[in-house]
Amino acid sequence: MTTTPRDGAGALGDHSARALVDRIAETAAESRRLSAVRFDLIDRLRLEAEIETGATWHDPDDLAWRDLRAEVAAAMHVHEKTARTDIELARRLVHDFAATLDGMRVGTVPETHARVLVEHSAGLAQDLWPTYEAELLPFAGLLIRSRFERLAREVRASLDPETLIERHRQALIERRVAVEAAPDGMAWIGALLSAEDAIGAHAAVSGIARGLMVDGETRTRSQVEADVLRDLLLDASGLTPSAEPGAAPGASPGARRGLRPEVLLHVPVLTAIGEADDAASLEGYGPIDAETARQLCADAPGFLRILTDPEDGATLSFGRTTYRVPAELKRYLRVRDEVCRFVGCSRSAEHCDIDHTVPWAEDGETVENNLAHLCRGHHRLKERNRWKVHHDPGAVLTWTSPTGRTYETRPASRPVSKRGPRIGAAPRAMTEWLQSTAPPTAGHPDF
Ligand SMILES: [Zn+2]
Repeated sequence: MTTTPRDGAGALGDHSARALVDRIAETAAESRRLSAVRFDLIDRLRLEAEIETGATWHDPDDLAWRDLRAEVAAAMHVHEKTARTDIELARRLVHDFAATLDGMRVGTVPETHARVLVEHSAGLAQDLWPTYEAELLPFAGLLIRSRFERLAREVRASLDPETLIERHRQALIERRVAVEAAPDGMAWIGALLSAEDAIGAHAAVSGIARGLMVDGETRTRSQVEADVLRDLLLDASGLTPSAEPGAAPGASPGARRGLRPEVLLHVPVLTAIGEADDAASLEGYGPIDAETARQLCADAPGFLRILTDPEDGATLSFGRTTYRVPAELKRYLRVRDEVCRFVGCSRSAEHCDIDHTVPWAEDGETVENNLAHLCRGHHRLKERNRWKVHHDPGAVLTWTSPTGRTYETRPASRPVSKRGPRIGAAPRAMTEWLQSTAPPTAGHPDF
């Protein structure tokens, strides 16, 4: 890799730009510190109200508490429901997750991440809170919110996999489609579905759209995907049949019939054969409960099931014998990265290029630790050579911006626990499985 920018120092490279970027980072840290102060104040107000009125949090209709909620809501110009959420969040940060609040006080933990951490602890046994916080918190300053949320689900599932089954059954009752108004005559349509239905549906829509992107197509890929979803939803011939006789009330009828998604599902081998209830991991989502995973193994042939075992797999290495990334290595990288590996990008790996970190032309090898997914835009940005990247062991990428600031990005999956899904052990299991039972997988673009 060359070390001189190809097109000379631009506006972002000079001294005043660096000062501006530093100032932006400082104000972001300052707003985190202010959030911590706000939560401290809210909890002090709650405690004073408790002492003064003898009210307890356990009765949400208690008039003293309604007073408190109204007071906080009015002060913050928010709905009382929001105020109630913040009063509870403040209480949990001050008394249950003090290290997280400390991180906000020193400006390293964003308020959004603190919210995620607290929200995903719901229902977790109290004696597991310290472990949960200790495993998750170091990543609060490293990951963007959506990745951090994914990690929170993984840590949560690894600490308490058995309760996932019952929690999922309860949550499934609430599935729904929602429409949300947007400006300029537009609206969002969303559906709360089980994770495997949502990820599978998205993969199916994406696959159909890919097939429609022929030469001369004037729509963008995103536009085609939206049109495909509309067509599928408006075509009644695709409706699933009603529930079979004897099915549990509210059970999802005929789910996955006709669906041919291309989704990777990692199932610990003992979970697959019903000997354990450790969580499985669905590509693009994270942990799903063992019961759902076993159902998918049994009756959803479109899902690429990868059985993971506790042994470390052999590293897939093809050195300088080939520039093209072999299919097994591609699959492994897709599992490892899941998304573009540039800072803060969440473009799915499926739509990304596989980039040689040290270019092939500069003796870079076609090996796992010299390859990473980059979306087309960020691939081009890297090729401009003003952002520098270093590929460290464990697939950690360290990026240096044109103004000299550094950022780390980490692979999507990590060994969540000795008992949870161990993505690091996937290559050998994956290769064996693909050789023995893989259905043909059409449609993956060559990179
Ligand atoms: Zn990207």
